[in-house]
Amino acid sequence: MGRLAQSIEANCDELTRLDAAIGDADHGINMLRGMKAAMEALSSTPPKDPADVFRVAGNRLVAVVGGAAGPLYGSAFRAVADALAASQKVSVPRLAQALRAGVNAIQRLGAAEPGDKTMVDAWIPAVTALEAAGTDSVRGAAAAAAKAAQEGMVATIPMRARKGRASYLGWRSEGHQDPGATSTHLLFAALVDATH
Ligand code: ADP
Ligand code: MG
Repeated sequence: MGRLAQSIEANCDELTRLDAAIGDADHGINMLRGMKAAMEALSSTPPKDPADVFRVAGNRLVAVVGGAAGPLYGSAFRAVADALAASQKVSVPRLAQALRAGVNAIQRLGAAEPGDKTMVDAWIPAVTALEAAGTDSVRGAAAAAAKAAQEGMVATIPMRARKGRASYLGWRSEGHQDPGATSTHLLFAALVDATH
């Protein structure tokens, strides 16, 4: 979570620039506000297990972020927390199962399908890659997931948005990378960093 917060801070302007093209230029700011609140909460009450990290961060994201992405990521993180339950160590299959529960929560809340040009287009390939990694090393599995998220992110460029604010633009949303798919790539890249 700390790596993600750092990465969101480093890429805040880029996320906002992408959202300026097909949204309302606040994705970086929204995510930064949410991740700062998450890190504040985690440092004031140290988490007792991995699930706690996701639960606390998810609760803060839902509470402090006004845009669509905050509640979507927040709900995903809370679903990840529920799936991790009380495990102290997280195996690759367990992580895959928890992140699958996360993307399922995003789809339940936002009703986006693959190809709608949203964060789902990066989440689903990433989770599928984690599932396919079987019982590989966590680092190898995370790297495969991050690569798949990046490919999913790039694949949003030609898509026409069918969900979220960008969908108001119709065909004019084509040719731009989705901001939420970009922050999703940062999430899975942070997972790789965290497995050093
Ligand atoms: P807002 O659109 O409210 O300004 P943000 O700018 O923070 O919120 O987030 C925009 C991102 O949220 C989009 O790039 C997209 O990836 C994601 N998003 C928007 N609506 C949905 C949805 N229904 N399902 C999944 N992701 C969505
Ligand atoms: Mg926005």
